Amino acid sequence: MRLDIIVPCHNEEEVLPLFYAECGKVLAEIRKEKDIESSFIFVDDGSKDNTLKLLKEFHEKDPFVRFISFSRNFGKEAAMYAGLQASEGDFVVIMDADLQDPPSFLPKMLDALLEEGYDCAAARRSDRKGEPAVRSWFASKFYKLINHSASTKIEEGARDFRMMTRQMKDAVLELSEYNRFSKGIFSWVGFHTKWLPYENVNRAAGKTKWSFKALSYYAIDGIVGFTVKPLEIAAWFGMIFFLLSIIGILFIIVRKLLFGDPVAGWPSLVCIVLFCSGIQLFCTGIIGEYLAKTYIEVKKRPLYIVRETEKGKP
Ligand code: UDP
Ligand code: MG
Repeated sequence: MRLDIIVPCHNEEEVLPLFYAECGKVLAEIRKEKDIESSFIFVDDGSKDNTLKLLKEFHEKDPFVRFISFSRNFGKEAAMYAGLQASEGDFVVIMDADLQDPPSFLPKMLDALLEEGYDCAAARRSDRKGEPAVRSWFASKFYKLINHSASTKIEEGARDFRMMTRQMKDAVLELSEYNRFSKGIFSWVGFHTKWLPYENVNRAAGKTKWSFKALSYYAIDGIVGFTVKPLEIAAWFGMIFFLLSIIGILFIIVRKLLFGDPVAGWPSLVCIVLFCSGIQLFCTGIIGEYLAKTYIEVKKRPLYIVRETEKGKP
């Protein structure tokens, strides 16, 4: 049996040797104890540093190290997809290169799949230590929002660090959408998942590639990708304002009949016009967001372009 370890890497020269050594130790134990071979599939996501050079060195020393190098930076989601497509093992695990996903979990995950009959074993953060408070707050609000509105449940604090059977991996690959939100996709395909809680660890070296802005866009991807609730909310806004306007019209007619002077109150009118046009633009924006995603989706562009692999240039 074989386990494939998929590692998306974007400018990870600082931490890669450390990761490779740490993970290698755990894999050697697995090989000895459980008789499971393993191979790495590193995905170089358009790194500008020496990541690719390092990967080539790893491959020269150990033929079980494979790598895929992208023509530019396509994002972690694309890198994970490429890794899953390249995997041929019976089990596959996705790990970050920065050692935030502890390799010591691998034997536990294998046990869950081999002995306990799960299809997937995934890590979930039990805390958000070492993260700015604002970010944690927004993250928890995001999970509330998406779990409230989408039928696909997304586990709070779920990481991409998870081991899957080949069957589940094939199911994930069936979802070949361009706007990928893996946390949602993993949950959408179903199967039995065992959650392993773990305490957040900081990056071993290097810097995170996620700015607050990037995370916000990712959250919007998640919402737009898994629920059409915002569109419904926009429609509700429309209904409510229609009803309000009817009440307003009736009020004005009655007042005119009773007191005369229909032109009084233009400042409040300006406020109402501004308010309503604001809501309209907001709703158009929501529709635009879905339209934009649809536009990108129908173009059917490839998720990534490979520049080089361990077998050379394709
Ligand atoms: N990553 C990637 N492409 C990107 C950004 C990140 O392949 O465009 C990889 C990165 O090399 C790392 C993993 O995704 O292995 C997680 O990234 P990071 O540690 O920056 O995110 P965080 O752990 O802070 O969420
Ligand atoms: Mg990280």
